[in-house]
Amino acid sequence: MLSYQHSYHAGNLPDIHKHAVLATFLKAMTEKPKAMTVVETHAGRGLYDLGGMEAQKTGEASEGIVPLLKKKLLPADHPFLTAVAATRKAHGASAYPGSPLIAQHLLREGDILHLMELHPQEHAALRETARAPGVNIHRRDGYEGVLSVSPPTPRRGLVLIDPSYEIKSEYMEAASFIKELHAKWPEATILLWYPILKAGLHELMLDALEGTDLPGVWHDQVLFSDTNLRMLGSGLFAVNRPYGIDESLGEISAAVSRLAGNP
Ligand code: SAM
Repeated sequence: MLSYQHSYHAGNLPDIHKHAVLATFLKAMTEKPKAMTVVETHAGRGLYDLGGMEAQKTGEASEGIVPLLKKKLLPADHPFLTAVAATRKAHGASAYPGSPLIAQHLLREGDILHLMELHPQEHAALRETARAPGVNIHRRDGYEGVLSVSPPTPRRGLVLIDPSYEIKSEYMEAASFIKELHAKWPEATILLWYPILKAGLHELMLDALEGTDLPGVWHDQVLFSDTNLRMLGSGLFAVNRPYGIDESLGEISAAVSRLAGNP
């Protein structure tokens, strides 16, 4: 099923949770001189217009990136905020970067980016936005595509898993994919985003993941007390998380939690 369009949700609370953590992981990993590969299972179109019809219809960014910037809840030199600023400089004041542009902003010459996106229009838009040396854009199923390029060269790297969770089985599919990916590419840092919904399907997924001996696990959930979102919260699960960034990760969680109306 391909009815989900991220343009309606860009810059919302779950997006800033995921994007700030992604930027923090990438910043830490690119501080080491060795080249790296970043791979995305579900890339989206890469660039969003918060002034556009879709974003305006839901108004979700007004609970996310808009107050995050206004209230200065993260330091001005935070890698997520520098990616937002660079995107706005290049594309206008209402532009918002998707995960591919955040990765492009932080990667260096010699690093490699593989982006999987199945939707024909999102894929076409991504090809326009993310075209650059070292960037490979694939129109194929994200899990099949990522497994086919794993382990990549360079072998040091990160995989972002960001499905649209349109169908219930996507939670367990994500857990199975993580185990298969880790077996094929054990050094990979893996970052998974998931929504917390009333049905609680994320709990089965977490049980499946926590029952394994995956290394360097990091897990964060922010519950939403006072938002207009249908979601009850936003979750992130990582394997082989970079070292030395726990304080920065806590800062992001606290900022998102504050915006979500938590005491
Ligand atoms: N990662 C993006 C970001 O943070 O900017 C947002 C991605 S959005 C949540 C999910 C995307 O997955 C949609 O653009 C959708 O078209 C795409 N998609 C859905 N099923 C897919 C599949 N099987 N393989 C690859 N992409 C898929």
